Amino acid sequence: MEKIQSLLTDTLQRPLRDLRISVTDRCNFRCTYCMPKEVFDKNYPFLNKSQLLTNNEIVRLSKLFAQLGVKKIRITGGEPLLRKNLNEIISGLSRINGIEDIALTTNGTLLPKKAKELKKAGLKRVTVSLDSLDNERFGSINGQGIGVGPVLAGIQAAEEAGLEVKINMMVKKSVNDDEIIKMIEHFSGSGHVLRFIEFMDVGNSNDWSLRQVFAKKDILDLIKRHFTVEVLDQHYFGEVATRFRIKETGDEFGIISSISDAFCSSCTRARLSADGSIYTCLFASQGTSLRNPMRNGESDEMLLDRIKEVWLHRSDQYSEERKNIQPAKKRKIEMSYIGG
Ligand code: SAM
Ligand code: SF4
Ligand code: SF4
Repeated sequence: MEKIQSLLTDTLQRPLRDLRISVTDRCNFRCTYCMPKEVFDKNYPFLNKSQLLTNNEIVRLSKLFAQLGVKKIRITGGEPLLRKNLNEIISGLSRINGIEDIALTTNGTLLPKKAKELKKAGLKRVTVSLDSLDNERFGSINGQGIGVGPVLAGIQAAEEAGLEVKINMMVKKSVNDDEIIKMIEHFSGSGHVLRFIEFMDVGNSNDWSLRQVFAKKDILDLIKRHFTVEVLDQHYFGEVATRFRIKETGDEFGIISSISDAFCSSCTRARLSADGSIYTCLFASQGTSLRNPMRNGESDEMLLDRIKEVWLHRSDQYSEERKNIQPAKKRKIEMSYIGG
């Protein structure tokens, strides 16, 4: 495993290594577990254009994060492919000294239009979210009646553009846990690593309850009833998914177990919201604006000091503490805004 070297560590000795950037809080889906359409309707106060960071502002702030130890950037949202000229952001990011990896998480529907230009701009890999292979079920999960076809077409476009592809499947008990094996079989031999994500209590609107979580152990027990499963080593410190391989096929898969097996002690991620605030946890209630001081003319040095200050005081470990917190009592930021 790679050795950590960082200039900056938080109160729990975690270095700053990853940055997730939400480039928009809007989405063409209304997934029930993320942006339920009853809440994210036409009256929802989405950010307007002047509130969003510009492409140059995103690249400028990313350079500062890189100076403080960030090596990996993930572009997310909302649906990041809704952002115009995303390729300009990618190409700016790919020229930053010290950034070794740029990835993008997407629902995939706009990849047929955009995969080639993203690859050309320097993107190496995408994670495409797909929770079901059944048109009707998928349409009801994404809240827009959109079938599986556009997402599969997006995956194919990404492959053809030469992008590495991973697949995220959010698993919710009695909603889609019966499709885990079907998904493994569907993507077997494709080289696309499947990652199963436990249903999380992000935001305030997805009506989360522990009873609806299909936990890591449940996922593994189910897969082991069909295949022989080997545990793989972590690629690097702070990797979100635990990795496994199916012996019979050689296919790798991962599980992201924020609920049943928290990984806060190795969490090296900062998040930059679409309007330029830094958040130090997915479940945070408050961020610190970098956009406002930047627009008021602060120098890079002053902005660096702000980021350092935030990271040095960071003590978040929400998933470890979840058991003791009354979820209803903590008001959190929506995932589409802060970046999944
Ligand atoms: N729109 C893009 C997409 O869906 O891939 C990027 C943003 S989305 C917020 C990022 C990831 O978060 C997706 O894979 C989605 O399934 C996951 N996600 C959203 N809400 C979740 C929840 N409540 N529990 C678990 N995963 C969730
Ligand atoms: Fe949109 Fe992604 Fe959230 Fe679904 S999970 S509503 S695609 S941001
Ligand atoms: Fe990191 Fe917060 Fe998730 Fe823990 S709960 S792993 S600190 S984002």
